[in-house]
Amino acid sequence: MAAIKNRRTALERVEKFLSDTYFTDCNLRGRLFGDRCPLASLSYFHTPRRIPYEEAVVQEFGPAQVGEAFGPTWETCWFKVELSIPPAWAGREVHFVWESDGEGMVWRDTQPVQGLTKEGEKTSYILTRSLKESEPHSLTLYVELACNGLFGAGKGSMIAPPDPDRRVTLSKAELVVFNRDVYELLVDLEILLDMAQLLGEENQRSFQALYTANQVVNVCDVTDPSTFPAARDLAAAIFSQRNGESQHTIHAMGHCHIDSAWLWPYEETIRKCARSWVTVVHLMEHNPELTFACSQAQQFEWVRSCYPGLYARIQDLVAKGRFIPVGGTWVEMDGNLPSGESMVRQFLQGQRFFQEQFGRICSEFWLPDTFGYSAQLPQLMRGCGIQRFLTQKLSWNLVNSFPHHTFFWEGIDGSQVLTHFPPGDSYGMHGRVEEMLKTVKNNKDKGRVNHSAFLFGFGDGGGGPTQKMLDRMKRMSNTDGLPRVQISTPDQLFSVLEKESSQLCTWVGELFLELHNGTYTTQAQIKKGNRECERILHDVEVLSSLAVAQDTAFQYPASQLQQLWRLLLLNQFHDVLPGSCIQLVVEDALQYYTEIRRAGAQLQEEAVQALCRDLLQPEACSTRSTLVLNTLSWERTEVISRPGPDGAETLALVTVPSMGYALVQEPFVPPQPVAVRKQDGSITMENGVIAVCLDTTGRLTSLQLLDSGRESVPDGCYANQFALFDDVPLYWDAWDVMDYHLETRKPVTALLKPLEVSLAGGLRGSVRFSLQVGRSSTLTQEIILDAMCPYLRFLTQVEWKEAHKFLKVEFPVQVRSTNATYEIQFGHLQRPTHWNTSWDWARFEVWAHKWLDLSEHGFGVALLNDCKYGASAHRNILSLSLLRAPKSPDSTADIGHHQFTYAVMPHQGSFQEAGVIQQAYNLNFPLHVVPASSPQCPAWSAFSVSSPAIVLDTVKQAEDRPEAVVVRLYEAHGSTVTAWLQTSLPVKEAMLCDLLERPLAQGHLPVEQRGLKLSFTPFRVLSVLLVRSC
Ligand SMILES: [Zn+2]
Repeated sequence: MAAIKNRRTALERVEKFLSDTYFTDCNLRGRLFGDRCPLASLSYFHTPRRIPYEEAVVQEFGPAQVGEAFGPTWETCWFKVELSIPPAWAGREVHFVWESDGEGMVWRDTQPVQGLTKEGEKTSYILTRSLKESEPHSLTLYVELACNGLFGAGKGSMIAPPDPDRRVTLSKAELVVFNRDVYELLVDLEILLDMAQLLGEENQRSFQALYTANQVVNVCDVTDPSTFPAARDLAAAIFSQRNGESQHTIHAMGHCHIDSAWLWPYEETIRKCARSWVTVVHLMEHNPELTFACSQAQQFEWVRSCYPGLYARIQDLVAKGRFIPVGGTWVEMDGNLPSGESMVRQFLQGQRFFQEQFGRICSEFWLPDTFGYSAQLPQLMRGCGIQRFLTQKLSWNLVNSFPHHTFFWEGIDGSQVLTHFPPGDSYGMHGRVEEMLKTVKNNKDKGRVNHSAFLFGFGDGGGGPTQKMLDRMKRMSNTDGLPRVQISTPDQLFSVLEKESSQLCTWVGELFLELHNGTYTTQAQIKKGNRECERILHDVEVLSSLAVAQDTAFQYPASQLQQLWRLLLLNQFHDVLPGSCIQLVVEDALQYYTEIRRAGAQLQEEAVQALCRDLLQPEACSTRSTLVLNTLSWERTEVISRPGPDGAETLALVTVPSMGYALVQEPFVPPQPVAVRKQDGSITMENGVIAVCLDTTGRLTSLQLLDSGRESVPDGCYANQFALFDDVPLYWDAWDVMDYHLETRKPVTALLKPLEVSLAGGLRGSVRFSLQVGRSSTLTQEIILDAMCPYLRFLTQVEWKEAHKFLKVEFPVQVRSTNATYEIQFGHLQRPTHWNTSWDWARFEVWAHKWLDLSEHGFGVALLNDCKYGASAHRNILSLSLLRAPKSPDSTADIGHHQFTYAVMPHQGSFQEAGVIQQAYNLNFPLHVVPASSPQCPAWSAFSVSSPAIVLDTVKQAEDRPEAVVVRLYEAHGSTVTAWLQTSLPVKEAMLCDLLERPLAQGHLPVEQRGLKLSFTPFRVLSVLLVRSC
């Protein structure tokens, strides 16, 4: 009989045949499951801790019922499930069905076997595919149930703070017969229906699919499975009609994006990994074609140490090329805030782990979910053996649509990496027709490339891919009207993209996410912990490396440093360092920083003891003196504070050589002391370099560079002006600050304590004042000017008690420039100060590291900071973002005490000529002051560099090579320069190496009298291996 003519009734007829709501008494869906049988018994116990299986199974289990609720939030229930399969089910496929809103894991014979998560469409554990008489019909399983959902336990909305009293309900636990033939036919019909609906009326293929589906329904008698094969043949006939040669090819890869902590704590992530990965491994056993791309070395390490049995199976699948480690980093870190060295360590720790565990490093950087990507990343990737990059987050841009999905991304030094955004704009696809069509349609590089990635699977503990996703894609592998779909690997995809790459476009500079700009500021204590711990590990590495050279008995603390670095790197995860996590995670993160500070202080003391033992040994007739150590690669002259003869702190002006130390007994006198004068409520301070005039509320009415007499503050303006903004985003509270917050600016002017002199001058002058901020917060600031120092320092304390407010400090400056400069990892970049185009004004709030600068020819003003990242420069106003007060997902975010320092530095010439880069380092890396007993000793320097354009950033022991040191330098001015690296360490051999410390071919460097000759192009990062001669 001919197909009926009404498109709508035909479509809806098929829909109803598949519906799980309507006509289930007589439609196909109603036949998916056959007989059911309750469990023989169900018992449980609950515990607030996450305990191992061995500990769980010996507990006392009490009775439990289906329909009961368990909790509260973050507790764990262990269920003992005894089941008995009815003998009458011989030959049938039998499932253990478990439905609850918690996250479950099935354990069988002491091993985890399957994750059960309703939101991940995983509610069945297959007991047998065809019940045989010989197999045991009675068995005992355990289900470990975490009393939290896939996305934690947000009260009222996903990102709301967790409800501590949430209970999860066990709505189903039983045995059922599963009708595989009904399932297969359902998948056929779903795809035909999707093709009919989505290809649209202008496409003949849509009608072919519709009429085939209609015919399938005609042929299929749901009460008589013998009619199914004929129905399936009809579907197979249309699926096997092939595409032409030019059709787009989709490379599908299983994936499960697991946030290392977010709306749940780190500890729960360990179980999420196990639940998801065991499910993937299980699925692979029955689907030999399935591949799975898996990132984050830290997560592999968690599973290795907590689930050794599962890990052994994963290792086997990695060796077979099916379970594919990707990314090369320790975690999927924030792409903006970690320092250059931190980013190197993300790769170093990650790639070394992958090499050690799986015998190869990753060849793709994988960061689909991070809030923007630093323009230094291409060089760092290439230095770590990676030339390919996969992400997609820029599809979240609020303002501008990014113009490419496949392109070359070029960093600030000119390094390029082949970059791919899956055009379906997701990393959690389900293998549906709609997603395939979106992938092809959305691809912005049509005609340039004809291949794209498609990552399928439920993330965040949803267990990754499902059988159904695979079964859908099998049917769509090559059917006319839909793109070709093949199960593939990242390597296969990038290899074909590389072949097709001749027509690709290039994007130069940062990949800025036009969203989530609040994450540069939210959770200020985490930001501060990151900056401080980066400094601590830097200093410990420098001082320990020098100590090894001075004292052969000293052991470089390699394994402790690795452990501390891994804690710091973990906290750089893309929901922790950005501050977009719940309070439980913040507590863990701050605890890790405390551990790094504690252990770091001890390691530093040990290194200083070994480095300067002779100077520190108490001697009978010794005079008291002070040892000052400098971990930076230039000589510094600064005011330090040291214990005086009577125990009180005294100030001293000292000069310390680069990466070395000096013994100070008689500090030298500055050419000009700091003068502090009070007149009519205002106070002036000057030190011969700069002169400043402050009003009674602590604002700068004048900031002069004395040499040139140049004024920095425009007439009638105030610098160091605090401003409070309303900060209510559209949804993503901790993440977003919206453009309209700028319209709510209120200057902070309520004075609590007027400006007064706190240090009268000499080596240091300072003034102090307090302000009321908002309704109930207070701010106290000490403004400090040191002798010879080119910047004015603002030591700031805030008692912060606001809700949905944003505090900034503003510096209007007398400089005209269309671009401001911001420090990034191992370099800097410029962003416009105007809002000409949508690309310009979308960057109303940006990030920077230690400094930003606004310069015109011959003069500029820089703003330095010791732990802030949010900033902006609009017209001639430089702003530093200080504190936010979002309420989700942590209602206590940022409430409490804060201390931070920023500084303003007017300068002649360019910021490069004026040494802004070095001064920002100085502010962040204070000199170390240690009481000594030795009366004198010559100053000692381990390293120095001949050019101010070159920063020697890192000195560390080489991995696995105790006889070698790695030094890392970068060109910081944006210039081509040749420089000499001098060292007083005994070096017998030197060679260039990559960031993974592998010597470069032709990288041998002659060790000359003047040192090592190094050639740099703009922003080039060089690593040098120095082999000690003793
Ligand atoms: Zn994520």
